[in-house]
Amino acid sequence: MSLPLTELVLASHNAGKLKELQAMLGEHVRVRSVGEFSDVEPEETGLSFVENAILKARHAARVSGLPALADDSGLAVDALGGAPGIYSARYAGGKDDAANNAKLLAELANVPDAERGAQFVCALALVRHADDPLPILCEGLWHGRILHQARGEHGFGYDPLFWVPETGCSSAELPAEQKNRLSHRARAMALLKARLGLA
Ligand code: IMP
Repeated sequence: MSLPLTELVLASHNAGKLKELQAMLGEHVRVRSVGEFSDVEPEETGLSFVENAILKARHAARVSGLPALADDSGLAVDALGGAPGIYSARYAGGKDDAANNAKLLAELANVPDAERGAQFVCALALVRHADDPLPILCEGLWHGRILHQARGEHGFGYDPLFWVPETGCSSAELPAEQKNRLSHRARAMALLKARLGLA
């Protein structure tokens, strides 16, 4: 990536993600939302987090004419061959966290503790332009274990079922500020910052 990078588009319509990224990159990089340029969301046809992040970044670069950053994240459970993986948001059919968590518990009903390892995954892709042959790719993994029942009220998605051994809590029991320091997203972002010379 040729620096300085003064402006980029984030391939997300989520205002929270935009704010978080802007804070991370500081005032020298202006972060814009892909929503300023297009309402069309690309089909996520990749088979991996990285492929989908690249696909979303290319789309955002194409509609904006700017360098673009995209993220793709989810939960990969060892005993389920990495499922729900890239399908995490809609594991049980709709976008319903409670139904997704219930399905995950049912799938793991007879799986003992020692085999309940899992990781949250975040892939980031940054492209200089839509056809960039050399995207910057950063992946953050957060290792844990799937609980037998939900614990905690914070967070979203699979947080109540994700046991974080080093904290002795589920990720839904961690204060947001602690989760945001430890999480898969934080790890991927730290790598990206280092790659961009901003660390
Ligand atoms: P997205 O990439 O932010 O859309 O996340 C995809 C899906 O992965 C979410 O809908 C959640 O089900 C799951 N997920 C990703 N990150 C987290 C997390 O930090 N906690 C809990 N669930 C997550």
